[in-house]
Amino acid sequence: MAENPFFASSSLPYQLPPFEEIREEHYLPAFERGMAEHLAEVDAIANSTEDPTFDNTIAALERSGQILNRTATVFFSIAASDSTDGIMAIETEVSPKLTKHSDEVRLNRALWERVKRVATEDAEEAWLLEKYRDDFIRAGADLGEQEQARLRELNEELSRLSTEFSQNLLKASTEEALVVDDAKELDGFDEAKIESIRKDGKYVLPLLNFTNQPGLAQLTNRETRRRLYTLSVERARPNLELAVRMATLRAERAALLGFPSHAAYTVADQTAKTVDAVEEMLGQLVGPAVRNAKKEAEALAEQAGFAIEPWDWSFYAEKVREARYDFDADAMRPYFELNRVFKDGVFHAATQLYGVTFTERPDLKGYHADVTVFEVFNEDGSALGLFLLDPYARPTKRGGAWMNNLVDQSYLFGDKPVVMNNLNITKPASGPTLLTYDEVNTAFHEFGHALHGLFSEARYPRVSGTNVPRDFVEYPSQVNEMWTTWPEILANYAKHHESGEPMPAELVEKMRAAEKFNQGFMTVEYLAATLLDWAWHKLAAGESVEDAEAFEAAALEAAQIAFPLVRPRYRTNYFAHIFSGGYSAGYYSYIWSEVLDAESVEWFKENGGLKRENGDHFRKELLSRGGGMDPLTAFRNFRGRDPRIEPLLKRRGLD
Ligand SMILES: [Zn+2]
Repeated sequence: MAENPFFASSSLPYQLPPFEEIREEHYLPAFERGMAEHLAEVDAIANSTEDPTFDNTIAALERSGQILNRTATVFFSIAASDSTDGIMAIETEVSPKLTKHSDEVRLNRALWERVKRVATEDAEEAWLLEKYRDDFIRAGADLGEQEQARLRELNEELSRLSTEFSQNLLKASTEEALVVDDAKELDGFDEAKIESIRKDGKYVLPLLNFTNQPGLAQLTNRETRRRLYTLSVERARPNLELAVRMATLRAERAALLGFPSHAAYTVADQTAKTVDAVEEMLGQLVGPAVRNAKKEAEALAEQAGFAIEPWDWSFYAEKVREARYDFDADAMRPYFELNRVFKDGVFHAATQLYGVTFTERPDLKGYHADVTVFEVFNEDGSALGLFLLDPYARPTKRGGAWMNNLVDQSYLFGDKPVVMNNLNITKPASGPTLLTYDEVNTAFHEFGHALHGLFSEARYPRVSGTNVPRDFVEYPSQVNEMWTTWPEILANYAKHHESGEPMPAELVEKMRAAEKFNQGFMTVEYLAATLLDWAWHKLAAGESVEDAEAFEAAALEAAQIAFPLVRPRYRTNYFAHIFSGGYSAGYYSYIWSEVLDAESVEWFKENGGLKRENGDHFRKELLSRGGGMDPLTAFRNFRGRDPRIEPLLKRRGLD
């Protein structure tokens, strides 16, 4: 039998994981050996007889656990993008073990004593040392034996519940999909769309991960819309119970660690730092956002000629856009062909700004035939890293879009970054893949994360690339969205897939005008999710919740964001970000990051927009820094001042 491919580092260019050799049976043995070796390495560091130095302690920890790291990186990438029953079973088995393993390291007293004694004069080392000390304290290194034992139990159960939550959700997206017998009920969908969801003589429309299913904007049959919406908000009901349990356990854990709530614990090492800072910001947004949404609702009711229900919102919003702005979102799609959007849009913008170029490497393979591998070069021809693109939705892929690293950049190992983007675009049964405007914008967004990973110039993996606070990580990706509609960029990629004709300027102008409509809806659905997350994670230890749905309703009411026509973007039962995605008490991050984003967009505009020197400045001061320094200092160095909220309020029509 061939050697387990995880036991040695990959011999492929850039250490791209050898996906063609990796089989499901490799994971468990690689995890087992990886954890055992890592623990042995950690013990050797902890019990060393030498005096603790930065190199023999912190850098040694950075060097440790390579098999485990390689295995986990690939495994969790596959678990998100191409999961099978086999992968799910491994995930269920291995997740609590990994949590236990991480506690073994962070709660190792001898190691913690050593880490406390390390000193360094070097600024980059000092920053990393501080991170390590924070990591240990936040993991409970200073607690007594009994408290640590309870902490381990809590972590293990939370890890189990989180896996269960996400697996329930993945199953629900197909098992609780909208099933329609007669294509007539799908009136409003084009033929290609209908064909793509035909299955065994019926039509099956899977649920996407958020409340407001895109089909609601097109389906003319009101009953079909009602069914689709109801399936969406009611899905995965067993998750309600899991959510209650998780929120309760998180509150108990926060108390053990000396915090009044999980929210307080979570924000302490973010750029927000305090619960009050987050609430002050959200408080400024709720009132104006709800007022905007109510005004929009009036316009929709007028358009419809009756009192609308939540499943009517998107449909009549499109009608208002057509009537008021003469804008039809579907008219844009023929100009947004997938390959062109990337090569002539997303990549082209990066070339204009940063001088980087992209070469497809068909000789390098991803884990699925739909994954494309690109090699990325600097302007001077030097190699930068690899970028993998997995654009299509499939039943084995989680909802949403995301970026992840397959290899972290670091000078310590001399590793160049290998990063990837996952999108969830429906693959047409035949012909070209035409995107919606939202999908194009998402492509630019995710690529902003990819650039953050690719441009990293960190010595240590712990602080490289996107390893930054999560209320900062969305910032560079949001900035990259600005190029979606930047005139020179748009003109370069938005061309008709058949005729090659550029998108009419008129259509673009109409889209810009129409974009202002529905800002109230989008802000309220986002803020409602944020405040729901917040309510779950402001629970104090010992507070109990009887009924998750009643809790949700009361939380929205209390936050003054309850508006029956606009439900949260995610309800409790499918809020994967906070119950399985690492964004617990962190969903506020998107709008928090948007303050920095709006400021940065303003900077680009003040300085002439799409110019190499602007890209270089952003790359040098911000993107290349990764998590290697204080993020707000990096922002100040880039922007030349502290962030202000005004540009965001203006952008969202809340000023
Ligand atoms: Zn993002």
